[in-house]
Amino acid sequence: MAKYDKKTIEELIDGTIDFFKLKEMLSSFKDPERFDTYLSILQDRVPWDDKILLPVGLHLYIVLKNNGDRIVKCDCGHEFCDYRDNWKLHALIHVRDTEEKMEELYPKLLAPDPQWQVIREYYCPTCGTQLEVENVTPWYPVIKEFDPDIDAFYEEWLGRPVPQP
Ligand SMILES: [Zn+2]
Repeated sequence: MAKYDKKTIEELIDGTIDFFKLKEMLSSFKDPERFDTYLSILQDRVPWDDKILLPVGLHLYIVLKNNGDRIVKCDCGHEFCDYRDNWKLHALIHVRDTEEKMEELYPKLLAPDPQWQVIREYYCPTCGTQLEVENVTPWYPVIKEFDPDIDAFYEEWLGRPVPQP
């Protein structure tokens, strides 16, 4: 089982990793230690102290608060909601649902028809970072893609109890 050092995992996060090293990592067994290294790098990079339980996206994390709550938090420190709740409904949402708004992104005539497809962009209300973009039909509900069972992830996959405050 291959183990990777902190520098290699930082390269992986930053997208500066060598292609062959990346290919080897992707095709080998994922050691639980690598997850810990990954979390500790993320933890070092955020300006706050709440313990990261699981990353949700490039800028969002499920963190453990001192009172035991698990919430979704942005790397700027903005706190969205309980992790079981849908953070997207607490974000700023920009919907591209007209030809004019589509043409800010696409060349004329190459944009999706907004009658059939809209683009929803989600932003952090505090730092303004774009957190997610989705192409959906206009009537499609706002759904979060990731609904993790944190306790099972720690206990069954990492083989240890989930951190407590
Ligand atoms: Zn933010």
